[in-house]
Amino acid sequence: MAALGRVLAEPIVSRSLIPPWANSSMDGYAVRARDTRGDPVELAVVGRIIAGTLPSRPLRAGEAMRIFTGAPLPEGADAVVPQEDVAADGERVTITGRVAAGAFVRPAGEDVHVGDVVVQPGGVIGAAEVGLLATLGYAQVRVFRRPRVAILSTGNELADLGTEPGPGQIPNTNTYSLMAQVIEAGAEPINLGVVPDHLEAITERLRWGLAAADVLVTSAGVSVGELDLVREALERTGAELHLWKVSMRPGKPITFGTHAGRPVFGLPGNPVSAMVTFELFVRPALRRMAGADSVDRPRLRVPALEMIANPGSRRGYLRVTLTPDTGGYGARLTGDQGSAILRSMVLADGLAVVAPDTTIAAGEPVDVILLRSLEPRSR
Ligand code: AMP
Ligand code: MG
Repeated sequence: MAALGRVLAEPIVSRSLIPPWANSSMDGYAVRARDTRGDPVELAVVGRIIAGTLPSRPLRAGEAMRIFTGAPLPEGADAVVPQEDVAADGERVTITGRVAAGAFVRPAGEDVHVGDVVVQPGGVIGAAEVGLLATLGYAQVRVFRRPRVAILSTGNELADLGTEPGPGQIPNTNTYSLMAQVIEAGAEPINLGVVPDHLEAITERLRWGLAAADVLVTSAGVSVGELDLVREALERTGAELHLWKVSMRPGKPITFGTHAGRPVFGLPGNPVSAMVTFELFVRPALRRMAGADSVDRPRLRVPALEMIANPGSRRGYLRVTLTPDTGGYGARLTGDQGSAILRSMVLADGLAVVAPDTTIAAGEPVDVILLRSLEPRSR
């Protein structure tokens, strides 16, 4: 069970034939199809095969055997007649109409052949895979290690969970939403806590993170103000920064770099910006590092159920709910799109991707990155 949700690291090759022998898919009578050409025919019932036993002997011309679902077909038999379609008295069975060869028979190997690769490495193990692994006798499988992701929230104003915010302070949101996103991405979070906007303090905490983790993620302090010290602190640890600022909304201030081959991400501080930039930049990297062969969320093209406007020069990632519409789903904005309004993420099923200076009219199609399953839920 520990493998559930993990990414498989080895191909699962079948060592057996499933099912191992032809068997019945109904309770009824095993027959030779060519014996049912008369109309009606009467066959002698010469045996009884229950699931978990083997037929006592082959079936010969003019004979039938009582058989139950899952029981192996006797040699010579090639079809099953369901019991509700016959008249029988225990000794003899009367069959009306022709029976086709193969009727109600599950052939040997119809599911899996010996040597079939039934699950590829890079696939996520779900409930069906767990069932198949058990069928094939795999009690243990090799999975990829989850990448470890250190998360640091920066900001003088932050009061961490469990402490009462002082005057002018706000609760620390991002550590927790980011840790949850890390877990949902199939990785393991390491909480580096909160540090104030102080260069040495940030640098020191980042060093801890780099010693413990495969990936570093920071929030806030990455913009242009004089207290935005994260980039300088990252450079002090020896990280090489490759980019700063992406033309998107929410989330323009973001930096990405590497430290001894390990990715480091400086995400913006606004809670929605932090979550959206995590989705777009950090999550795919974590999926790749986790060994998954699919790293991107599904993208859907659905009709806008109301006008969706993205004024300004940045690409928009607007939070939308997807609601059932005639023949499919349609997208509706979650309301106010401010990057500090975390409720827009709580309500969101997806992110509508809208080009700069573009307005999508109601009824026009819009591209949506799907963030969650569309199971109905209360909001
Ligand atoms: P900054 O990027 O440091 O200018 O922060 C942008 C905004 O995000 C400010 O309003 C911060 O107070 C807020 N913020 C920064 N970090 C967090 C956090 N961990 N939780 C909630 N809000 C935050
Ligand atoms: Mg700040």
